[in-house]
Amino acid sequence: MKTSYKELLDAVKSCSDKALKRAIRKAVEEKSRYVAERIARTESARACYQGLLKDTRDASDVVAYRWVESTWHPAEDICDEYATVDAYGLGPGIFPKDKAPELPAHPHCLCHYEKVYASELGISDWRQIVEDNLSEDLQPMYNRTYNR
Ligand SMILES: [Zn+2]
Repeated sequence: MKTSYKELLDAVKSCSDKALKRAIRKAVEEKSRYVAERIARTESARACYQGLLKDTRDASDVVAYRWVESTWHPAEDICDEYATVDAYGLGPGIFPKDKAPELPAHPHCLCHYEKVYASELGISDWRQIVEDNLSEDLQPMYNRTYNR
């Protein structure tokens, strides 16, 4: 998209009507494609997340979700924090089902959750560990902003 904007700028500088029309069309098409891809990626991630919630809502053996960060992450953002934070004492990136941040975390977010089973945690009383960690104020983490 940067290339098409540069071509548009060059066309403006050249004062060529034909070059300007071509550059405008190309820039608009590229921007439209970018917006369509953003919507498709973001809404696909949201649909996967909603499916996970529906599949695991009544599954008592699934007690938490593990944030799996997408490999396509060009800049540090909230996803890096979600994938590494041990907010509830269950392990890095693991959130109790009812405390898990919503997906997608931002437009273009391709992160997802893995199911975490009670037996997998290796902790006999995971609920008590979560309760013990609830006193910490997690709001600052969720409200932090990142430049994208
Ligand atoms: Zn993400």
